[in-house]
Amino acid sequence: MPATPRTIVTRFAPSPTGGLHLGHAHSALIGWRAARESGGRFLLRIEDIDPVRCREEFTDGILNDLRWLGLDWDGPVRVQSRHLPDYRAALDRLTGMGLLYPCFCTRADILREVVAIGHAPHGPDGVLYPGTCRRLSPAERSDRIMAGAPYALRLDMAAALRHAPAPLGFLEMGEGRIRCHPSRFGDVVLARKDIPASYHLCVTHDDAAQGVTLVTRALDLRPATDLHRLLQALLGWPAPRYRHHGLLLGADGKRLSKRDKAPTLAALRREGHEPAAVRAMAAGAATSSAAIWLAGPVAPLG
Ligand code: GLU
Repeated sequence: MPATPRTIVTRFAPSPTGGLHLGHAHSALIGWRAARESGGRFLLRIEDIDPVRCREEFTDGILNDLRWLGLDWDGPVRVQSRHLPDYRAALDRLTGMGLLYPCFCTRADILREVVAIGHAPHGPDGVLYPGTCRRLSPAERSDRIMAGAPYALRLDMAAALRHAPAPLGFLEMGEGRIRCHPSRFGDVVLARKDIPASYHLCVTHDDAAQGVTLVTRALDLRPATDLHRLLQALLGWPAPRYRHHGLLLGADGKRLSKRDKAPTLAALRREGHEPAAVRAMAAGAATSSAAIWLAGPVAPLG
C-alpha cells in the first residue's frame, strides 16, 4: 500500500432498504465531488446482503435517483449479494487463524446471560456479547453443528487484538491520525445466522477489493471504523483514508433518516423540484474533500 495514495477512489454504498433521502444525497455528493474535483473515481456499491430488508425495486430507485441528480459513477455497480463467496473466503481465512467461533445464542439467551451477570456493557453495536459460546469445547461445537443448530460466527476479540499490530489508527481527513479502540465491539458477529456475512466484514472487504482510497460516509459510522481497521490489519488489506461527514439536519434540527420520514428524492422530484435545487439542498455545508485531501496531513498509519 502506498503511504500517500495520490488518486482519490471513493464510493457511495447505500443499502436498498428504502428510497434515498436528502441525507443520502448529501453523502453521495461529498464522495462524488471528492472524486470529480481530483480526477479520481467514484464507485457505487449496493449493500444488499440482508434479503429481508433489501429489495431490488429500491436498488432501481437508487440508480434512478442518482442519475436524476446528475451524479455519475465509474465502472460497474458492485452488488454485494453477488459476492457471498468472497466474504466466505475472508471468513475462512479468519477461521484458519483461529479468530472466529460459532455462536448458537439467541437474543433471549444473551439477555438472560447479561441479566445473570448483573451488568450489560454496551458497544457501538449494542450490548456486548458475554462470551458464552467462546467457552464451548470443540466437541460441543461440532455436536451442535452436526445437530443442525443455527449459528453465527463471532470474532474472538482478545485473540484478534493479540494478532493485530498495536496501536491501530486511521487517517481522518482534516483531523489527522485517530487512535482505534476495536475492543469496544467485544466479540462482534462477522457472519449472521440468517446471512453468511455481516455489514462490517462486507464493507471492509469491498473497500479493499475495489481499491477505495477515501471512504466518505456519515459520522454515525465513525465508531465502526475502529473495527474495520482491525479487520484490515488481520486480513492484510490496505487502510484507506476516511472522511466522516456531519449529518444533514432537517428544519427541526434532527438528523434526516428513513425512520423519521425524511422526504425522499423521489418525493421531491414528484413535487416538481429540479435536480439542481435538490443538489443545492443536499450539499448543505459540505466542504470539499478533495481540498482537504490535498491539504491534509500525511501520517503513517498503524
Ligand atoms: N450501507 C451503509 C448504509 O447504508 C453504508 C456503509 C458505508 O458507507 O460504509 O448505511
